[in-house]
Amino acid sequence: ESNKETRGFQTEAKQLLHLMIHSLYSNKEIFLRELVSNASDAVDKLRFEALTNDSLFEGDSDLQVKVEFDKEAGTITITDNGIGMSRAEVIENLGTIAKSGTSQFFQNLTGDQKKDAHLIGQFGVGFYSAFIVAKEVEVFSRRAGTPAAEGVHWVCNGEAEFTVADTLRESRGTTIVIHLKEDEKDFADNWRLRSIIKKYSDHISIPVVMEKINYDVADDESDKKADKAAPEFETINSATALWTRSRTDVSEEEYKEFYKHVSHDHAEPVTWSHNRVEGNLDYTSLLYVPARAPFDMYNREAARGLKLYVQRTFIMDDAEQFLPMYLRFIKGVVDSNDLSLNVSREILQQDPNIDAMRTALTKRVLDMLSKLAKNDVEKYASFWKEFGQVLKEGPAEDFANREKIAKLLRFATTHTNVATQDQSLEDYVARMKPEQKKIYYVAAENFNTAKSSPHLEIFRKKGIEVLLLSDRVDEWLMGHMVDFDGKPLQDVGKGALDLGELDTDEEKKAQEESAKTHADLIARVKKALEAQVSEVRVTHRLTDSPACLVVGDQDMGAQMRRLLEQAGQ
Ligand code: ADP
Ligand code: MG
Repeated sequence: ESNKETRGFQTEAKQLLHLMIHSLYSNKEIFLRELVSNASDAVDKLRFEALTNDSLFEGDSDLQVKVEFDKEAGTITITDNGIGMSRAEVIENLGTIAKSGTSQFFQNLTGDQKKDAHLIGQFGVGFYSAFIVAKEVEVFSRRAGTPAAEGVHWVCNGEAEFTVADTLRESRGTTIVIHLKEDEKDFADNWRLRSIIKKYSDHISIPVVMEKINYDVADDESDKKADKAAPEFETINSATALWTRSRTDVSEEEYKEFYKHVSHDHAEPVTWSHNRVEGNLDYTSLLYVPARAPFDMYNREAARGLKLYVQRTFIMDDAEQFLPMYLRFIKGVVDSNDLSLNVSREILQQDPNIDAMRTALTKRVLDMLSKLAKNDVEKYASFWKEFGQVLKEGPAEDFANREKIAKLLRFATTHTNVATQDQSLEDYVARMKPEQKKIYYVAAENFNTAKSSPHLEIFRKKGIEVLLLSDRVDEWLMGHMVDFDGKPLQDVGKGALDLGELDTDEEKKAQEESAKTHADLIARVKKALEAQVSEVRVTHRLTDSPACLVVGDQDMGAQMRRLLEQAGQ
């Protein structure tokens, strides 16, 4: 061993490590899931790179993850023959957090361990989870295709620093040695490890193997020695790519564990949709709706998209071409039989088959969401709370599906008069007055302002429901919605409000008369406010307030205007 140096963790990495150790103690065994998941990712990456460079296999293409333990020493060792890491990669990957928006994430932490544990789950648990049970972790690694002398040895005791040194390593890939804390030594146990692997890693598509233990001969000293010389290994997991199995063959638990593997999320998904498409295009997709929005959902640079496989071979993470931006929260896998193995992001952008797949996958997601909305109102409500804002971007981005998306939208309205967005447009339409032709809405910068808008007075008086919009995207949304179910959407704060069909003849007559009586007053007010307003009208929309401001029919909405002003325009 040579060239040893001691380094400090990046500040965020140090914080994450600390939080991990102190917040996730209630479910310690997940560390094995994370390490096996990383090993499987490493094997996927090797397979991918070997597509263009066969020599990376170094004569060993029997890809697997090996889990070993030593009861006396209190260690667990996880070895993979995947891509491995160079010295620089070890320092980078295990010493820093490269995710975009990391510092925002840390600003959200509360110091309350329960809440923070939840947030870490969203962030992704990962490698550091080893320190939940370890007093020290050693990593031995060598990148595939590099000489044995370029092995690297990383050691850390879970505090602020780690050491790295050069070491000789014959086999490519990574070995992680967990030195268990005194009171966690129970993990170094054959049956315990097997059951954890079965429980969390069954879906991993490569074999996870452990040494066979033959209890019949264990008492016999000579046999035991013979065993040691050539240990026999057996596969613990199913070792088939989960999405290739038939739906009826996969249990709910397996779907959930697979989600955690592909999403790097710690929480369970809300729902999923698993489909095989044959014909013109031949592919399998498995799409999940997460329970919680990622911390970086509004970061345009944040990673999004599906894991792409071609004929079971992993090609890339975050293939974003398969779903539109407003469905960026969807996680999952797509495995194509038509794409070429050397497909790249650039090729994906140009391939017309991808457009067809994107259209089909978008429909799948929208159908999955409608089904959720129909079958489980409560779950849909929590989905809406997390992702509703993003879905509202839909009608603008995806004109073809805007009616479908519109059905998925939920609003606060004067029907319930509370801020909770739980009313659909279909609900609204069902409650419309027989003579009512339009769907009315008011937009303001917050719910209370919307609710107490003077524009609503006449609607409340007549018992006509109005949508109460106060999200930043709402005006953008309404700008692209135009109508729903053949009924135009009308901003009650815009232009001359013509409640025409809703007014009785008597009301109309009274309106005409009051317009005449007040003509004089109007002229004077108009003169006085000349510089500020473009028109003054007698209105019948107010019952309590003496006057209100409206914007012209063709003008930008008030909320949109505020948005642009804030943006300095
Ligand atoms: P994630 O898996 O979400 O990227 P982790 O904390 O689990 O985050 O792992 C951090 C990084 O360390 C991985 O992205 C990968 O680059 C590297 N890594 C971890 N384990 C291995 C391994 N067994 N082989 C190669 N690289 C690994
Ligand atoms: Mg990981």
